Amino acid sequence: MGARKYIGRLQELPTPFYFYDMDLLRSTLATAVSEASRYGYRIHYALKANFDPRIVETIRKAGLGADCVSGNEVRAAIEAGFPAEGIVFAGVGKTDREIEYALGQDIFSFNCESAAEMEAINAIAERMGRRARVALRINPDVDPMTHRYISTGKADNKFGISYTEIDRVIASLKRLSHLEIVGLHFHVGSQIGCMEVFEHLCERVNAIRSWFRERGIVLRHLNMGGGLAVDYENPDREPIPD
Ligand SMILES: *Cc1c(COP(=O)(O)O)cnc(C)c1O
Repeated sequence: MGARKYIGRLQELPTPFYFYDMDLLRSTLATAVSEASRYGYRIHYALKANFDPRIVETIRKAGLGADCVSGNEVRAAIEAGFPAEGIVFAGVGKTDREIEYALGQDIFSFNCESAAEMEAINAIAERMGRRARVALRINPDVDPMTHRYISTGKADNKFGISYTEIDRVIASLKRLSHLEIVGLHFHVGSQIGCMEVFEHLCERVNAIRSWFRERGIVLRHLNMGGGLAVDYENPDREPIPD
């Protein structure tokens, strides 16, 4: 598309050279935001995909929140002007310093990956005299039908709290008085091209949600991913995924 006019000039350009079609990005964002708002959903952009400042600014202005997997991504989101209530923080290896920083910024929620992490966040929040909002990341054991290296929601992936741990985690909540459970988080993989994956995920999520409700835990938010596949073979065929 827009890149064609540069092809003849490739010799003159520095390498590596990144060309971004900002018009396509803006129309993708507008489409995604208007589709999501029909159902009252909010989209969060995963900063790890690309943190070029101009791209991030365009995404923020379109009204998306930020999905972070490290303390430095949380910092980048704050510095790029994302409101703290639009920032979520996942990842299996959060350090104490990352947790302290994110708590200090009062981000919307920590997506909590394990019972041990809940203990760590609770202790830090207690020390800082705060209450941390957390969403429990549950591993739903759903096959994303994508490459095994970008699969995150099968039982043998390292991410999230497994079904066998949920009872123990719920029992510990009474004791962890510096945590406020705001919802659940699920992410099953990236580059998902098969829409039945989302159907399977939603069925699991509904069952898990009722299971929590039966135990008196009301969940206000459900955070679900991952992303629709990019057609790398033929990017012009469907530039905005349907
Ligand atoms: C990688 C990742 C994302 C982004 O997933 P895509 O499918 O690439 O959009 C979102 N959330 C979390 C927690 C991730 O680890």
